Amino acid sequence: MKITVFGTGYVGLVTGVCFAEMGNTVTCVDIDENKIALLKKGQSPIYEPGLDELLTQNIEAQRLTFTTESAPSIHSAEIIFIAVGTPPNEDGSADLKYVLKVAETIGQHINDYKVIVNKSTVPVGTFHKVKKAIQDQLNKRNATNVLFDVASNPEFLREGCAIEDCLNPNRIVTGIDSVKAQETLQNLYTPFLRNDTQILFMDPASSEMTKYAANAMLATKISLMNEFSRVCEKVGADIEAVRKGIGSDHRIGPHFIYAGVGYGGSCFPKDVNALVRTGLEYDEKLLILNAVEETNQIQRQRFISLIHKRLETQSIKSVAIWGVAFKPGTDDIREAPALNIMQSFLDRKIKLQVFDPAASENAQKYFNNNSLITFYDNQYEALKDVDCLIIPTEWKSFREPDFALMKKSMKAATIFDGRNLYQPSYIKQKGFQYFSIGRPQ
Ligand code: NAD
Repeated sequence: MKITVFGTGYVGLVTGVCFAEMGNTVTCVDIDENKIALLKKGQSPIYEPGLDELLTQNIEAQRLTFTTESAPSIHSAEIIFIAVGTPPNEDGSADLKYVLKVAETIGQHINDYKVIVNKSTVPVGTFHKVKKAIQDQLNKRNATNVLFDVASNPEFLREGCAIEDCLNPNRIVTGIDSVKAQETLQNLYTPFLRNDTQILFMDPASSEMTKYAANAMLATKISLMNEFSRVCEKVGADIEAVRKGIGSDHRIGPHFIYAGVGYGGSCFPKDVNALVRTGLEYDEKLLILNAVEETNQIQRQRFISLIHKRLETQSIKSVAIWGVAFKPGTDDIREAPALNIMQSFLDRKIKLQVFDPAASENAQKYFNNNSLITFYDNQYEALKDVDCLIIPTEWKSFREPDFALMKKSMKAATIFDGRNLYQPSYIKQKGFQYFSIGRPQ
């Protein structure tokens, strides 16, 4: 099939590459000229495991091209995906300007029947707004004979394993209001449905709502565990034992019940807030979701306060940070807890020695090349003479490090672990002062 994808971010690029990998002819369009220039050379602007290989292979096979030109990309496509950002407005609602701009562009250039599929995370009702934006342009052009269908197809990939998720999805959710769109999506996704994966067809509103409900549910599980962790600390219980105790209950399950420094990323915070906002628009106060986001903020601040309280008595010169990305496996630092932690030290003019396997470049840009921060290519070098180590992200190489080497490098052998990576008794044996979350200190 001939597919065009608007947006070459974490979702659009991975989607385009995976459709090409299945044999489709894919054009990816972005307004960011630098991104497109890199992609044309076969270089990915984002870090995502497995992406580079598929990118090169599919460019070489001439199934995948990149461009900033919308019109020819619209003309050549049978299916057009919208995968642009939906950042939060100031009031927490989703900003649809990028999605609607693409819809408008499609309306200006569409020349024959196509299915326009929205993959961006959008509030209920956007399906109709996209349809209207396209139709308005067709009316303006007196091209009302050009027919099209719109479909909703929210994305559930996880950064860090996005390629794997995209090629082997748990399920594919689609919102449609026409048989033709249903058939097109069924044909497009059949190659992805080999392992009992289901493609679910539903009405557009339910499809749009499914995405928010999924993220809200996952964020709720994390916040609830974080709330439990606070009680654990007070009553002398261990949240890790509690996690195992409840995770083995099939009704609860083992996923997304890790206490920590709170969730971040480009999705959970914004999607929880956007759903709260949708509730308000319809006169429904979403009490649980309000608390989910507040709990997340409290959890972050609480960890930062713990660190500064424990360090207060010493005169701190420099601190090591292991992990800036909002989670392992990605270079994405949007809403990452590490950013707040780092800022709290910069505010106190304390030097930071930072290691992240993928996100250093983004962090450097975010902090505007702040001279108080030094980035290292090696996790042990970042520990040289530091007064403590803080771990906001659970990259694999942090899980079983060389503790002897660490101790030798650090001025003070103190670890603040925002992801409960280590056994407190074990790490104390190794000679470290150790603070983690929801466990007896
Ligand atoms: P992103 O910010 O990484 O990328 C968006 C891209 O769209 C950018 O490259 C931008 O230049 C481009 N763009 C903006 N306007 C454009 C236009 N008119 N034409 C062409 N390109 C344009 O965003 P993302 O993380 O890929 O997220 C995209 C959508 O998918 C969002 O709605 C997000 O909520 C949703 N989503 C994201 C994830 C994730 O893990 N990142 C997962 C599921 C769903």
